[in-house]
Amino acid sequence: MPQRHAVRCSRGGALPRRALKLRRVRQHRLAAFGLACMTGLLPLAAAPRPAAAAEDASPIATATTATAALAVSEVRPGVFVHFGALEDWAPANHGDVANLAFVVGSRCVAVIDTGGTPALGQALRAAVAHATPLPVCYVINTHAHPDHVLGNTAFRPLPGDGTDAPQFVASARFAPALAARAGAYVNALARDFGVQLAAADLVYPDRVVERSAELDLGGRVLTLRAWPTAHTDNDLTVYDARSGTLFASDLLFVQHMPALDGSLRGWLAATAKLRRMPATLVVPGHGPASGDGHAAMDAQTAYLDALLRAVRSALREGLTLPQAVARIGVPAGQTWLLADRFHKRNVTTAYAELEWEDPVPPAQPATTAAPAATGARP
Ligand SMILES: [Zn+2]
Repeated sequence: MPQRHAVRCSRGGALPRRALKLRRVRQHRLAAFGLACMTGLLPLAAAPRPAAAAEDASPIATATTATAALAVSEVRPGVFVHFGALEDWAPANHGDVANLAFVVGSRCVAVIDTGGTPALGQALRAAVAHATPLPVCYVINTHAHPDHVLGNTAFRPLPGDGTDAPQFVASARFAPALAARAGAYVNALARDFGVQLAAADLVYPDRVVERSAELDLGGRVLTLRAWPTAHTDNDLTVYDARSGTLFASDLLFVQHMPALDGSLRGWLAATAKLRRMPATLVVPGHGPASGDGHAAMDAQTAYLDALLRAVRSALREGLTLPQAVARIGVPAGQTWLLADRFHKRNVTTAYAELEWEDPVPPAQPATTAAPAATGARP
């Protein structure tokens, strides 16, 4: 197995200026990279390149780190993505299943999600250091699921070590969500991954986003948007207007079956709004990036919409939860990876949500003496 690979995928006229060597860590990452390239990004196989600040001819980062750098693809100039395996968060893949990214401005770098273990966070941090000498000024968490946040610790400065001290940014609803599962996450890390981490070591945001926020990286402004409950109750997307890249977080799954942990109706509503964003490249939380985000959103919406209709139908028929789970299959004609792992779970979550859905009130017979509406409820 080769120990080093140039891992790079670029498009358009912004060709590499200098060499960047990124170690390939595992074969599946290369496969994910290949998928990304197939979805509208041109692979360039020659000399590796350096990644300087987006418009900056600053020196190549020469510092070496003890940690192997995570393989990343430069999907747009100054926009780097690590594509996680299309698998469940598990020891076999070292917890490396979520897409992670960083965006380089002229002043500093924003990291978007940090991976499913502290070691992955370290490897991502090494990838940033290989790409640019600029400091990390923001670490953005798109939601509080373990595969996206447990690498945060790698970006926390140690007292007196002189490293970057980034601001951690997340939805205003992120902290309670992480706190509610912190014990389970650290137990899973210890039990399944052999990693000892105290719940108190998990990193919470310094800055929260209620609705939207802008982060200036120097010549490059990221727009963050916090969403009403959809995939989870604390989803956050990131849009880089300069490159037209939308980091859709887990509001979008591509190839990997969507995993519902929030609100099915909310997720459908959020996806409809995501479609209206002016992105020319969409990076999902799981799966390859796409220059045609609408097609990816259509596939996800077809699944979620079919799930909604099937669960509503089951409830109307009076099916119990086990009956609904047994009866409702993956919609005909749809193919998703990890369906065995997530579909029945999605039916269960949707059933719990829709069970208490307000029924559409029956039509009232017209009366001539209807009281005037006051806006008050009895
Ligand atoms: Zn998630």
